[in-house]
Amino acid sequence: MKAWTLAARPKGTPVTEDFALVERELPALNEGEVRVANRWLSVDPYMRGRMNDTKSYVPPFQLGEPMQGGAIGEVVESRADGIAVGTLVSHMAGWRDEAVLPAAHVQPLPDLGVDPQAFLGQFGMPGMTAYYGLLQVAEAKPGETVFVSAAAGAVGSTVVQIAKAKGMTVIGSAGGAEKCDWVRSLGADAVIDYKSGQSVVEALGEAAPDGIDVYFDNVGGDHLDAALAHARQNARFAICGMIDVYNDAKPTSLKYLARMIGNRVRIQGFIFGDFKDHAAFYRDMAAILKDGGLQREETVFEGLEKTPEAFLALFTGGNKGKMLVKL
Ligand code: NDP
Repeated sequence: MKAWTLAARPKGTPVTEDFALVERELPALNEGEVRVANRWLSVDPYMRGRMNDTKSYVPPFQLGEPMQGGAIGEVVESRADGIAVGTLVSHMAGWRDEAVLPAAHVQPLPDLGVDPQAFLGQFGMPGMTAYYGLLQVAEAKPGETVFVSAAAGAVGSTVVQIAKAKGMTVIGSAGGAEKCDWVRSLGADAVIDYKSGQSVVEALGEAAPDGIDVYFDNVGGDHLDAALAHARQNARFAICGMIDVYNDAKPTSLKYLARMIGNRVRIQGFIFGDFKDHAAFYRDMAAILKDGGLQREETVFEGLEKTPEAFLALFTGGNKGKMLVKL
């Protein structure tokens, strides 16, 4: 098999030399194992954290070892009861073309009538993150005003669509006019182009003159500060990600932090893996899809060789919707 390994721990923004493509022999199958040929690989911003040798909620990638990440593959050989050759499965042995895995490490895809790669996006980890963050962590309710950053990304674009399907007013932010137009086409009531030169705090004040009830944070920094500046009484912030600081440990200054006191703002970080029972998620998402309220956009890089390039492009806004690699 061919796999991308971590060649060096990045200092600041990662570069292609931090990754090395190697060839390794795969073992013969033991009882209870399957061989999977990957068809789709996911690259995600959280992987940047795993490139550092620091303690976090997921262990760091090891130097010289294959990287890991979400993937969809086809079982091409099986010694596991109940998993037939030809089954499409999701698993975490991404960044490579093939893997041998115990049956317990692969999940056959649920039959929801969507493309297999949707299980790396709206019907997988990013979709769950959007759903649980919005509805359970932030406890967003119909009629409320929700602000979501990185709204043209995998998580953000799903937040926009779930929030609209649930009867909320939605303000998204994204970089550039084309992405903003797309977020508007998903149903957002207002969109902020944070690259337009206008400050986010000023733009949010214009988009939400009565303030916001919920902030779904994917960015941190000036977006978080702007949300604090415009938070209404009892606003809830779901802190999902802070991509603005992943490559750079620069201190973030929050000018409006103290406003959380008088406005009783609840700020809660979360990890999608905190939520284990996905029955309601699949049911709700299938219903939104059936009602025509779910559009899916993917940015696809072709070929295993392109995986680091696809990953690095996440940090320069190179994706609309989910960033994927197709093998
Ligand atoms: P996206 O598809 O949103 O891709 C990242 C996007 O972030 C880019 O397209 C870019 O869009 C935007 N971006 C990059 N750098 C900056 C910056 N400095 N300031 C503002 N925007 C920036 O990725 P995901 O949807 O997969 O992830 C979104 C966030 O959710 C990330 O922070 C991620 O770490 C987090 N996350 C958290 C999880 C959890 O369990 N807590 C699980 C999954 C994701 P643009 O062109 O608009 O700038």
